[in-house]
Amino acid sequence: MSAILVIAEHRGGALREATLEALGAALGLAGGDGRVVTALLADDPAPLAEPLQGCTHALRRVRHPDLAHYNPELYLPVLADIITALQPAAVLMPHSSQGLDLAPALAGRLGLPLYTDCTDLEFCDGRFTIRRPVYGGKVSQELALRPADTWVFTLQGGAFEPAEPGAADTKTEDTTLTDLAPRHGRVFLEQIESALEDVDIAAADILVSVGRGIGGPDNIPLAQELADHLGATLSCSRPVADQGWLPKSRQVGTSGKTVKPKLYIALGISGAFQHQAGMKNSGTIIAVNQDPRAPIFQVAHYGIVEDLFKVLPLLGERLAG
Ligand SMILES: Cc1cc2nc3c(=O)[nH]c(=O)nc-3n(C[C@H](O)[C@H](O)[C@H](O)COP(=O)(O)OP(=O)(O)OC[C@H]3O[C@@H](n4cnc5c(N)ncnc54)[C@H](O)[C@@H]3O)c2cc1C
Repeated sequence: MSAILVIAEHRGGALREATLEALGAALGLAGGDGRVVTALLADDPAPLAEPLQGCTHALRRVRHPDLAHYNPELYLPVLADIITALQPAAVLMPHSSQGLDLAPALAGRLGLPLYTDCTDLEFCDGRFTIRRPVYGGKVSQELALRPADTWVFTLQGGAFEPAEPGAADTKTEDTTLTDLAPRHGRVFLEQIESALEDVDIAAADILVSVGRGIGGPDNIPLAQELADHLGATLSCSRPVADQGWLPKSRQVGTSGKTVKPKLYIALGISGAFQHQAGMKNSGTIIAVNQDPRAPIFQVAHYGIVEDLFKVLPLLGERLAG
């Protein structure tokens, strides 16, 4: 199998965790004898490259002052040259706003086939098999792809285990570009952060998540108490955020955040597919719901069919004792 190329992503001077997930997927595809190559385009690649050491066989660091921020007009010619020279079996990148912009442009420019939002990737008998959600995550589609020299894939956040250092011996190759100019004059002006988020639920190890079953904002402190006992962060389903019981930044799901904590406790959440899409890859899922047919139990490892207002005090007592 030819090499697998991963496009590293960085923002605000930090490598994005999703890059390591793409590397985890790439190393899985490459197996023991394949090769993973990572392209890192930046103004100062060295500090960004640190977390990549030991996670890729080859690291191509491309340096230019204008590569400090993502700009498709600058990324495209550089990556097109790398792909043309390397002829990788696949190009992988996160299914992020950057990946959603870059992957189709790259595929279009080089005439390569593309699939987005992949949650599983395999390579067998010269073919890729992929899994991806369709209809907003209601159905998962498995596709055996026709053979092609190079496929382009974007990978869903949280779907792949991040690569761990030590998985590969990394050889670094540096290129400093001198002439690199946007063809249509598209230049990066400013990165505007969304309204300050109180916490990043995607970074939490334990989430206590509340749904409409919590009844109203007055009951949120009950869930907060459990969260405090566990050292957890509070998250929620969409109706809870829509009604302002918790900030929007706490919402899990297709129109919220994708999370993958070690422990996800769902309190009074039905488990609609839009919610499941954002949390089903959590390490251990515990659901409390009084309806035994609630879809959340399809993804829960442990289920408690009970009124959450009976369960919460019992849990609190047990944890306090
Ligand atoms: C385009 C689109 C995008 C969406 N994006 C998201 C998203 O990102 N995230 C998201 O969460 N949803 C999203 N939704 C909404 C989604 O379809 C569901 O409506 C939503 O997830 C339901 O939230 P819920 O489970 O809190 O509420 P409900 O579906 O009303 O479920 C409440 C649950 O609580 C249980 N319950 C009630 N009282 C108790 C009690 N006392 N004890 C125990 N259990 C109790 C009930 O049995 C029920 O199962 C989206 C919808 C659309 C159309």
